[in-house]
Amino acid sequence: MDFIPYATQSINEDDLAAVREVLTSGWLTQGPAVPRFEQAFAALHGVAHAVAVCNATAGLHIACLALGAGPGQTVWTSPNSFVASANCALYCGAGVDFVDIDPATRNMSVSALAAKLEQAERDGQLPAIVIPVHFAGLACDLAPMRALADRYGFKILEDASHAVGASYNGQPIGSRYADASVFSFHPVKIVTTGEGGMVTTPDAALARRLQLLRSHGITREPGEMQHPDTGAWHYEQHSLGFNYRMTDIQAALGTSQLRRIDGFHAVRDRLADRYDLLLGSLPLRRPARVPGPGATARSSWHLYVVEVVSGRGVADRATVFARLREAGIGVNVHYEPIPLQPYYRGLGFWPGQFPAAETYATQALSIPLYPALTDALQDRVVAELTQALRA
Ligand SMILES: *Cc1c(COP(=O)(O)O)cnc(C)c1O
Repeated sequence: MDFIPYATQSINEDDLAAVREVLTSGWLTQGPAVPRFEQAFAALHGVAHAVAVCNATAGLHIACLALGAGPGQTVWTSPNSFVASANCALYCGAGVDFVDIDPATRNMSVSALAAKLEQAERDGQLPAIVIPVHFAGLACDLAPMRALADRYGFKILEDASHAVGASYNGQPIGSRYADASVFSFHPVKIVTTGEGGMVTTPDAALARRLQLLRSHGITREPGEMQHPDTGAWHYEQHSLGFNYRMTDIQAALGTSQLRRIDGFHAVRDRLADRYDLLLGSLPLRRPARVPGPGATARSSWHLYVVEVVSGRGVADRATVFARLREAGIGVNVHYEPIPLQPYYRGLGFWPGQFPAAETYATQALSIPLYPALTDALQDRVVAELTQALRA
């Protein structure tokens, strides 16, 4: 029987036509398709500025730089994330630390954040930036996080890699609570450009810094020149930037994918509802649907993660995982805690520091969820999972 992956892209004829059109246009990069994609993305997320980059990791790097991360400062993020959420701080020479998760939402815990901030204030070690991660597409509890940011003076940089088109309290992610937000267009995410990312911000000056940092720190704007104009070839480098540009080929695919986003969300919503129903009587924990007390969210359902709590009659997670892979079901684990990676242990982190994230990681199992997953395939996943859970 066919292998069912945990996630995969959806490419249709319109996507193919968009890529074909850009390939035969005059511009493969630095052309009009990039700003067109940026405008469509900004409009969809209700935010003033969007800056396209070659991947979300690059976006996190330049967003940290643009928000002022550097040596002598600390950036906090969630241990339950992809390593890029923490690596971006280290790229800037800043230190990194983690805030444990709320086991209900698997997102950074607001109470753990508040407690850690109190201690950090006493120690004179407050973070410069906090990077909450909207795990699986469910928003973090952003309103109390924003209140803490205003009280303690740190910036919020959302890692919204999972959360294209998601919302919190009726507001699109990327628009209202954060200083900047980063989205990923890797093929397993909600929409794809192959590789690709986007940084959104309501702040025009920050958006301009991001544009410069993604392209070598070079400006060609006459109004920004520091030296006299020597001719039409004249450009100036003002900061140490990078080549983190998105191509027009990627951007054209991205714009075409964004036109399909309502359809993607509708299928993911429906499949998640169906999993909730079909898994209701099985001995596992299903994903939460609310970010915190009194808050609401619309998840983008990047992942559907169940937790296998082994016990009487229930197999352990490793066994369930192995049985499902054997049966051709492409389950995965998101994530082993970042601070337990060998590289991060080398920086001084140790097991036991973030117990909620560590316990969660021993139980987590991402089961297939993607736009082309049919009811019949989903039924097969559920049947195999039901069997695999038996001790
Ligand atoms: C995918 C992902 C990234 C990195 O995205 P790329 O576009 O592959 O660089 C960062 N953070 C999280 C949470 C992710 O899931």
